Amino acid sequence: MISHMDVDHISGIHHLEGAQSFIVSELEWNGAKGHQRARCQGITIHPFPLKPIPFGPLKLGKDLYGDGSIYLILTPGHTDGLISVLVRVQDGWVLLASDAAYSRISWSEMILPGYTSDDEMAFQTLQWICEFSQREDCIAVIANHDPLVKEASF
Ligand SMILES: [Zn+2]
Repeated sequence: MISHMDVDHISGIHHLEGAQSFIVSELEWNGAKGHQRARCQGITIHPFPLKPIPFGPLKLGKDLYGDGSIYLILTPGHTDGLISVLVRVQDGWVLLASDAAYSRISWSEMILPGYTSDDEMAFQTLQWICEFSQREDCIAVIANHDPLVKEASF
């Protein structure tokens, strides 16, 4: 699953040997620039449409397996079609916030990502992450580039 089309997230895609194909939100794929798509040349990409789901700032995304175990959640603002991943674990949920936030400090102090496609949406997304992080059944929220995350231990 490609969270979004920023080069630091797609440049190594050719090194993922054995992967048959990738999915990315249709919104992100349709908004991708030529140089971003060029990096995916020779890779099978299946853009997926956004559908109503129970989570996220806009409650749009994809129930990956149709069983509520993993939701791909539209968390726009850093890019228009950015996807975060919500994974059901034994005692609740783990939210992989992708680049919607760069660190846990982002949602505790409402600091937007350094690059945004839409500041207002990025703020709404951060608000949703902040609220979700306070749920009793939220085991962890992990941002992609968080230097405070050393190792997952849950
Ligand atoms: Zn990014």
